[in-house]
Order: sequence, then structure tokens, then C-alpha cells
Amino acid sequence: MTTPWGLPDFDAHEDVHFFDDEKSGLKAIIAIHSTHLGPAGGGARFWHYADGDDAVTDALRLSRGMSYKNAMAGLPLGGGKSVILANENRTKTPDMLHAFGRAVEALGGRYVTAEDVGINVADMIEIARSTKYVAGLPNSGGDVGGDPGPHTSLGVFLGIKAAVKWALGKDSLKGLHIALQGAGSVATGVALHACAEGARLSIADVDEAKAQKLAERSGGKAVSAAEILEIEADVLSPCALGAILDQNSIPKLKVPVVAGGANNQLATPEDGERLHERGILYAPDYVINAGGIINVCTEYLGDGDASLVRRRIEGIPVRLAQIWSEGAETGRNPAAVADAMAQRLIGRA
Ligand code: NAD
Repeated sequence: MTTPWGLPDFDAHEDVHFFDDEKSGLKAIIAIHSTHLGPAGGGARFWHYADGDDAVTDALRLSRGMSYKNAMAGLPLGGGKSVILANENRTKTPDMLHAFGRAVEALGGRYVTAEDVGINVADMIEIARSTKYVAGLPNSGGDVGGDPGPHTSLGVFLGIKAAVKWALGKDSLKGLHIALQGAGSVATGVALHACAEGARLSIADVDEAKAQKLAERSGGKAVSAAEILEIEADVLSPCALGAILDQNSIPKLKVPVVAGGANNQLATPEDGERLHERGILYAPDYVINAGGIINVCTEYLGDGDASLVRRRIEGIPVRLAQIWSEGAETGRNPAAVADAMAQRLIGRA
């Protein structure tokens, strides 16, 4: 039997909790990677896993990712994540969500939950009936809270501008060509900010109607999902899926910059080095896409208003420049520099 400590992704998690509530059918894992900087913050994912091992691996990887993301965003939060194991029919009931809330509550605030894949705002409201350790609730009169998407988009847009400045010496996106993968929540905000600054956009989504609609709104051009990674452009902005940068796609890229909001863009850590060897500037995903968690954290802590959220998001390009600068000094690739920086911040250097 493999013990949790022996798992490749265990990485010294502070604690990992398993919950089984027979009455509601809830099966969930809450992984707490680090509370060095504050309570472990990270969303709850509702997903049907092939088996329990896959669920544990997902929880551990996502939880460590949140430690890095929160630390690099300068937030007083540690990193954690929860997964709720859905059955094949993806049955989700209020009882199950209440049981999940009780599980979060039982940890006494060591973990704070919010939305992730498969969990929406209505689910969060149910969960909040049995725990106070929740963020991502609808904006209830204050000006912080609600949908994190637009905040993520703003951070990505500012990150793209910083990357263009660093790699191409340009102060504006005016006249630059951006290849955007995805036409969902994050991509939409990025497209609208970029077109307002005069960028030219090529947009792809597996849902072609969505790409077409966003192209019309932003004066861009819809292209096929198959060709977006191979388009000649100034910036590739992945805002859809993870693991799209790998040994097959990287040699075909025709861009000097990759900067986008999707989580886990690098299929493996070696892919950060592959981009670097090709002279492509990479904006580490968990740094550039932190705008949403910045908004969620400010809502949860109640420590500021929309202007603080904005200032914290404006810290994203500053952090990216630190990473690229340290990379230039040491010859290391930005993904490796960011990981090392995050580890230092959470006291694990
Ligand atoms: P979304 O579901 O609104 O949009 C994703 C879009 O990607 C969908 O339109 C989907 O059809 C499209 N897509 C899927 N596969 C594709 C492919 N192969 N090629 C082209 N398009 C494809 O999701 P979102 O909230 O915009 O999130 C996008 C990415 O950003 C995800 O990786 C997410 O984890 C990450 N992210 C989102 C936030 C946030 O605040 N929403 C925060 C941090 C990171």
C-alpha cells in the first residue's frame, strides 16, 4: 500500500482530510498544503473521478498550486483545495452541499472554500448555510465579491501588457496581434480590454459560435481551435484548457510571448525550459491569473474595497517583471523562477 506521504504530489502537505457522509452521499477530500501565510484558501471542485487515487492526486496538485498562487499574489492566505467526488450521474443535492459545509466548518477556519469547476454561486450559497468559511458569494451590496472572471481578465490583460513591454519593448498593445485560445469568461474580458487598446485578435473556441460572437464584439477574427496554437502573432494567450504547452505544441509556436489565464498551461515542468530555449517569454499561469482569487480573498477577509482589489491586481505585472528579471540574471526559465520564489514565500526554500 502506498502511504499518502509516499505520493509524488504529497509535497509536505500540512494535512489532508477525507470525508464520507453516508446520509447525503458526500465523499470529499480537503487538502491543506500550507497555512504559512494564513488560512488555506482554494475552491471546491465537483468532479467525477475514475477512482479515489485520481481524486487524491487532483486535490494535492491543486492545493499546492493555490499555495503558490496566493503567495505570489501577496495575499495573506495559505493554499488548500477540496474535491467532491461526484458519481457517474454527477448527482449534486443540497444535503450533500450542506454536509460539505459542515466538513469545512469542522476545520475551524484552517481552510476557506470558494467556487471551482462544477461548483457555482448557487452551490456556494447552499454550502454557506453550514459554514462561515466561504467566499465567492454574490455581491451583497458591497463592491467586492461576485464573479471572479472579470478580475482574472484584468490581471491577464495587465500581464500581457507587461510581457509585451518586456519582450518587445512596446508600451501599448495597439496594432499587436493576439491569438486567444478560448472565448469564455476570462477570454472575453481579455479580448475586450485588448481591443479597447487597439490590438488585433484571432479567437478560437471549440464552441465556434462562441468564438464568432466574441470576434464580432471585439472586432477580431474567429479561427479554428485546431490552428490557434500555430498562428503567427505577437502574443499567444491561452485562456481555455491546461496542459496545452508540451513537447508537440511548443516547437510549432510562432509567437515571442505566451501570456494567458488558463491554469496549468505547462504539461510538465520541462515545458517551461522548452519555451525558454525557444526564446519565448512565458508569464507563469498562477501569477498572471490571480485576479480572481485576489477579489475572492478581499471579499472573505473584508479588508478592503474595489480600489484595494485593483491595486492588488496591479501588483501582478510587477511580480511578473520580478520573475523575468530574476530569470534574466540567473538564466533560469520563468516557470522555475516563479516556483522557487513561491517556495521561499511559503517558507519552504
Ligand atoms: P469558461 O468555461 O468560461 O471558458 C473556457 C472556454 O474554453 C469555453 O468557452 C470552452 O468551450 C473553451 N475551450 C475548451 N477547450 C478548448 C480548446 N481545446 N480550444 C479552444 N477553446 C476551448 O472558463 P473560464 O472561467 O474563462 O476559465 C478559463 C481558464 O482560466 C481555465 O483554465 C480556468 O481554470 C482558468 N482560470 C479562470 C479563473 C476565473 O476567474 N474564471 C481564474 C483563474 C484561472
